[in-house]
Amino acid sequence: VSDRRMQDGCYVGLYVDVTELSHAKAAAEAASEAKTNFMGVLSHELRTPLTVILGVARIAKNPRLLKSSKTMLAAIEDGNTDPADIKIMMEEMFDQFSNLMDRTIQSGDHLLYLINEMLDIAKIESGSLTVESAAHNIATIVDPVAIQLKTLSQKKGLSFEVVRDTGQVYADKVRTQQILFNLVGNAIKFTESGHVKLKVTANQDNVLFEVSDSGPGIGQSDIESIFDVFFQVDSSATRKAGGTGMGLAISRNLAELQGGSLTVESTAGVGSSFTLSLPSAKPRVPS
Ligand code: ADP
Repeated sequence: VSDRRMQDGCYVGLYVDVTELSHAKAAAEAASEAKTNFMGVLSHELRTPLTVILGVARIAKNPRLLKSSKTMLAAIEDGNTDPADIKIMMEEMFDQFSNLMDRTIQSGDHLLYLINEMLDIAKIESGSLTVESAAHNIATIVDPVAIQLKTLSQKKGLSFEVVRDTGQVYADKVRTQQILFNLVGNAIKFTESGHVKLKVTANQDNVLFEVSDSGPGIGQSDIESIFDVFFQVDSSATRKAGGTGMGLAISRNLAELQGGSLTVESTAGVGSSFTLSLPSAKPRVPS
């Protein structure tokens, strides 16, 4: 903006640099667009597990299923049916039931995970997200996560390697496990073939949790944006894998609240490597 006017025979020039202002406006517009896009993505992500839960409930309530259990009851009561046949019928029914319940639990867990992520984002925005750090053995934090995610990677036919130092980290156990679930979960989710690796090394000051994969990688233009809330790389890999774009924003916040950091190195078409750095638990000097 330039403004020129006469004052006592002189020209006074007023120049206001609005570059920052227009950057702020562009950032606000981008954030608002990301939020609108997020509402669509979230609705889809919430609807999928809910559809499964309702579908399972409808199958369980199906009159044919109820009728077959009544037939079985009658067969037990009349005493004429071979107990071996009744056993087979019951086993089949239990299997069916257990399968349906597994799908319900999985979908319910996924819904709970999404809702907890939304609560975390709300806490980040209001500045009320907190952590409770203490000294923990690295194994206590890493091993349960590794066991659970190994099954997931095996289902996808990926090799999953865990290499870890012994030692202690000063961290919030549950929140650090949440970060690792996000990082390793993403690595498995986006990698179609090859490997996922979790390597934990401890030095005097820090414990480094490095999660690497042979997935699609992330282009240089997107690399820092992936830590922005609701950001998802616009690629077929992202669309296929699903998700909401909340995980990494939460993970970076949690890492920083614990006095650490979360960084990424990635090459498109080769793979990605995320590094979570947290403080080592210093050995206490006996008093
Ligand atoms: P979500 O996975 O729910 O979409 P995140 O915040 O965890 O949300 O990740 C944000 C985006 O970063 C993802 O949508 C994806 O585009 C990209 N991304 C994260 N991890 C990886 C990875 N290991 N390989 C490739 N892209 C990734």
